[in-house]
Amino acid sequence: MSVEKHIAVAIDGPAASGKSTVAKIVAKRLGLIMVNTGAMYRAVAWATIRDGVDVDDASAVVEMLDNVVFSCGVEDGLSTILVDGFYPGEELRQNGVNQRVSGVAAIPEVRALLVDKQREYLKLGSVVMEGRDIGSVVFPNTPFKVYIDASEEVRLARRSAEGLNDAVAKRDAEDSKRKISPLKVADGAVVIDSSEMGIEEVVDAVMQVLRDKGAPAEIFG
Ligand code: C5P
Repeated sequence: MSVEKHIAVAIDGPAASGKSTVAKIVAKRLGLIMVNTGAMYRAVAWATIRDGVDVDDASAVVEMLDNVVFSCGVEDGLSTILVDGFYPGEELRQNGVNQRVSGVAAIPEVRALLVDKQREYLKLGSVVMEGRDIGSVVFPNTPFKVYIDASEEVRLARRSAEGLNDAVAKRDAEDSKRKISPLKVADGAVVIDSSEMGIEEVVDAVMQVLRDKGAPAEIFG
């Protein structure tokens, strides 16, 4: 498929709505690249911890961006991010990162840097990209947009089942209220409330959206 024909499937939604899991399965089934944009914001937050940068001091964070190399790639169909050549792995999901990430993600320079990197992925192939602003900002012209929601209760239960401590409601509030690229349902996005659905059902619903919106037959194999 030529670069112009690469498609972007945008999957947005609040924390722990299941969008990563769904994006991974959809991407695998269709042979597309799955891009986890939350990991990129988490990598910047992780670097602030490593370098002892105060996230409330936006200019210090912006200065850090000049001195740290964030490199994005793909491994086994999944996006990867290295910080100065190092992959932080599970550390990206640690509580300190959870607490800092929304603050870091509200800094315009951080977003500008990462949105550029996110758009670059489309040169490599068609993508399923998940995050908060994919349908609204990163790929506003894609017809393939879904917003996966779930009740707060269900989302908290999902995180604690993973053994993770994550104040999802606090992060969502910060992500929704920020001035730049807030979490919202993008124009034209199909909302899927996954509270009472199993993963496979959500995957099927996303596949149906792709068909309904006229995704090219060749991506279905
Ligand atoms: O998806 P995940 O929960 O890993 O995202 C971590 C944080 O990164 C979010 O709470 C949000 O602050 C930020 N984020 C964002 N825009 C995206 C993806 C994530 O602001 N597209």
